[in-house]
Amino acid sequence: MLLQIHEPGETPLPHADERGLAVGIDLGTTNSVVAIALDGSPAVLRNAEGSGLVPSVVAYSEDGSVVVGKEASKQLLDRPETVVSSVKRLMGRGAGDVKALAGTLPFVLDEAAEGGMVRLKVAGRSLTPVEVSADILRALKAKAEESLDGTVGRAVITVPAYFDDAARSATKDAAKLAGIEVLRLVNEPTAAALAYGLDNAAEGLYAVYDLGGGTFDISLLRMEKGVFQVLATGGDAALGGDDFDHEVAEYFLAERARELGEAQITPDEAKQALMTARLAKECLSSRDSGEWVIEVDGRQSRHVLDRNGFEALIAAEVDRTIELCRNVLEDAGVQPQDVHGVVLVGGSTRVPLVRRRVAEFFGKEPLADINPDEVVAVGAALQAEALTVGSDTLLLDVTPLSLGIETMGGIVEKVIPRNTPIPVAMAQEFTTYQDGQSAMAIHVLQGEREMADQNRSLARFELHGIPPMTAGAARIRVTFAVDADGLLTVSAEETTTGVEQHVAVKPSYGLTDDEMAQMLRDSMEHAREDMETRLLAEARVEARRAVLAVRSALDADQDLLSDDERTAIHAAMNGVEEAVAGVDRDAISAAVEALDGATRSFAERRMDRGIRSALAGVSVDRLENKVEGRD
Ligand code: ADP
Ligand code: MG
Repeated sequence: MLLQIHEPGETPLPHADERGLAVGIDLGTTNSVVAIALDGSPAVLRNAEGSGLVPSVVAYSEDGSVVVGKEASKQLLDRPETVVSSVKRLMGRGAGDVKALAGTLPFVLDEAAEGGMVRLKVAGRSLTPVEVSADILRALKAKAEESLDGTVGRAVITVPAYFDDAARSATKDAAKLAGIEVLRLVNEPTAAALAYGLDNAAEGLYAVYDLGGGTFDISLLRMEKGVFQVLATGGDAALGGDDFDHEVAEYFLAERARELGEAQITPDEAKQALMTARLAKECLSSRDSGEWVIEVDGRQSRHVLDRNGFEALIAAEVDRTIELCRNVLEDAGVQPQDVHGVVLVGGSTRVPLVRRRVAEFFGKEPLADINPDEVVAVGAALQAEALTVGSDTLLLDVTPLSLGIETMGGIVEKVIPRNTPIPVAMAQEFTTYQDGQSAMAIHVLQGEREMADQNRSLARFELHGIPPMTAGAARIRVTFAVDADGLLTVSAEETTTGVEQHVAVKPSYGLTDDEMAQMLRDSMEHAREDMETRLLAEARVEARRAVLAVRSALDADQDLLSDDERTAIHAAMNGVEEAVAGVDRDAISAAVEALDGATRSFAERRMDRGIRSALAGVSVDRLENKVEGRD
């Protein structure tokens, strides 16, 4: 959502239109889920077997065909080199970031790839994570269209709360490639909280405990007037249900080696053990015990495991998640009993030991009536409906783009950076540029670019009645406040005198998300160029300030200079003005330095005179006092 000025009460809502149905998508590391909400009731889209989970796995064949989901994960065992899984871990990562992870990832990186973007080598192709994610989203869109019998054009897509700008824009780009318009990216914990209707619940603190396949996230949300702020996040990007599988598989393999008298484990046995372990684990969430068989090359081994035995195997990992919860609460300065509610997210929270330990730690039963592996998609679907059909509970949790004001030279000074949780108020101090300046133009802008004219102009207003002071002496405090409804109010106050002005800026739907994505992309493409422009603009402002200062010094104290000195100073001033007209930053600095040199002794003489006149002033005052005293 972008912020623009609107007449109060006249904010138009977008209409449900030919852009297609709007769904909620949980684009997970292990599994993805699509849901849709109609008239406030959400439903998860399921396949013929009743499963809503689509494995986030893509298989590529040499003939160019792409398969996503369960069919693709089957290929994972036989032809792993053609399959990509867990690609979410690479979203927004540069080639450099990923080097450190090498060997721990379930795919081969394309070392030959040029530039910063990571690439994967799979079935003779070189693919970016964005393209792989787009393939998953394309498949989800197709499956949704089939089951809904209509076009799906828009979606709310969830992302981990810790996703940075790069990972968020990578997700948006993937959606765009897949032909999906992103209504909004919503934080996963926020979506889960929405699914439970916590936006209508009591204000306070909520924790979202998300244990998925390969990742653990704990988030602390503060709910206020239906708006969630992510207060703190923590977790471990390499801790999840997969680790439970490994513990059980190792146990099974040790048993098998003993039973069959084998000294060595073959790769096939390891794979089979892992698959069996996963089945056993999931089974033990609802049953007390079971028996499983591992058969490789006709050699069978039998394995009995009960819930207690399983819990002993995974206790250390579950303890670690609780430890991470404790850390996050401590960082936020919160006690477990201050947390009003705990939401369980992720397939691995079906494990009874996990539920028990979470309940113990927070001292209350966690919310778990919605399927933990579907709850994020449900929240996303509710949000998608709210954003398209229009409801008065439009939920904003962060500012989508930076908000700032224009300063001298057309430079933007950001006051509230993008992705700042709202409501929020932030202030920044500015000062006057010229001696005796009595008014200031405030130009409010939104966007990521460095220069004002490349951002979106939201409002202009003027602060009048600044008492005359020397340049740089006034203290103008500009405050940006974005409230729970996304309304921006900007106020400016001269703090020494209290002169104040303010203007309300209201949200509008004037810009599409595509345009917003474009603005974000532009800001990245132009980041370097922008920096150059900004530095040049700053150098010009500095140079002009120097010339102004010399000019007003000349007006006051010409008589301190010889004709030659005066000529030299004028020449140096002309030099600065010429340099400012050009685009060479070094030339500007050199000219300013030359001006400094030419005026150094003049400045010293002025200082002497200033001190003398100040002393003289004192004696005059005293004299006057004496005169008054006599009266
Ligand atoms: P992600 O958010 O990483 O995409 P999910 O939330 O779908 O992942 O969780 C996947 C994990 O949940 C897997 O490790 C899977 O084995 C585990 N899981 C799913 N169902 C159960 C169950 N009934 N009992 C225990 N673990 C389960
Ligand atoms: Mg998840």
